[in-house]
Amino acid sequence: MNFFYCKKCVMPSTKPNFNSLNKICNACNFHIEKNKGKKKIDWVGRKKEFLNLIKSIKKKKSPFFDAVVGVSGGKDSIAQVHHLIQQKLRVLAINVDYGFKTEIGVKNLNLIPKMGANLITFRPNLKIHKRILKISFEKYGDPDLMSHCLLHAFPIRTAIQFKIPLVFLGENSALEYSGDKNINNKSMSHQWFLNYAANGNLTPKNFSKKFLIDYSFMKNYDLPNKKELFKINAVFSSYYFKWSSEVNLKIAKKYGFNSLKTNSEGTYRNYHGIDEKINRIHQYLKFLKFGYGRATDHACEDLRNGKINRDKAIKLVLKYDRVKITKYFYKDFIDFIGINEKSFFGILRKFTNNKIINKVKKNEFN
Ligand SMILES: [Zn+2]
Repeated sequence: MNFFYCKKCVMPSTKPNFNSLNKICNACNFHIEKNKGKKKIDWVGRKKEFLNLIKSIKKKKSPFFDAVVGVSGGKDSIAQVHHLIQQKLRVLAINVDYGFKTEIGVKNLNLIPKMGANLITFRPNLKIHKRILKISFEKYGDPDLMSHCLLHAFPIRTAIQFKIPLVFLGENSALEYSGDKNINNKSMSHQWFLNYAANGNLTPKNFSKKFLIDYSFMKNYDLPNKKELFKINAVFSSYYFKWSSEVNLKIAKKYGFNSLKTNSEGTYRNYHGIDEKINRIHQYLKFLKFGYGRATDHACEDLRNGKINRDKAIKLVLKYDRVKITKYFYKDFIDFIGINEKSFFGILRKFTNNKIINKVKKNEFN
């Protein structure tokens, strides 16, 4: 196992889709290129492109709505809605709710209709979703395995059904966190879905086959075929607007976005991943499997943006990444999938990569 930390940020090489050059991760390389290097992004040009896109969408005079945004009620989704309502588009926001929302998450979600968008909450078939969650957690150590697919696919399928021409997605994680070289990638594709929503070959179709779940009950989790997908424009908002947690937070706050009073468990920020509980299990498992958690993600972002230095980033990672998960985040989940606490922690242990965790414990970031 070739374990090392990026020389610029604090991301370990065990991160999935981690690519590097001379021990500098591609996310850092990309960050430099797009801000100062040869591939410096012309944000004024991108804004023009956005305005042209809006014009073309308005021209389509779609029957009900102009755009779909998948929303959690988090600051990023509120910022996405903001960019569209400012252009006077008729927005349909779609929230996928499996029943694990936090109180603050519900409060923030309720801001969306008040902003001037329409909101529908989609509650997936919980008989099916419960099976999916249980299998994903027990066999793959990731309760969110198929949920990421559903969050991306369902709004796109809805847009096609209602003849809504635009789907305004969040950040392109391939570019922002994995340093995908193609910075002009602005649309959702099957390849992107395979790599960054699904887990490689474990598409919803393959999952349904493998675990004998009728695929017609899982179609909502899957992207439509290419021909269908091309009927709409599913684009990443981070292509048009510089992706920044801080900027999005500022926008969201204008609409009354609520943060926690203290930091959110597993990181030092108080406004990130606060809308539902299962994500905390996903993030904690990420730490046990790959040696980095939510605090690392946030410290890397702050480091790249020059808000903190590397020493400070290391301190934050050491303090927050390894914080043990508390009952508040797993109790509803284990009750729902029908396992006890002992089995829950047994599964966490099963997926812990001790080799990585032992290295992480040595605190050697060089
Ligand atoms: Zn890096």
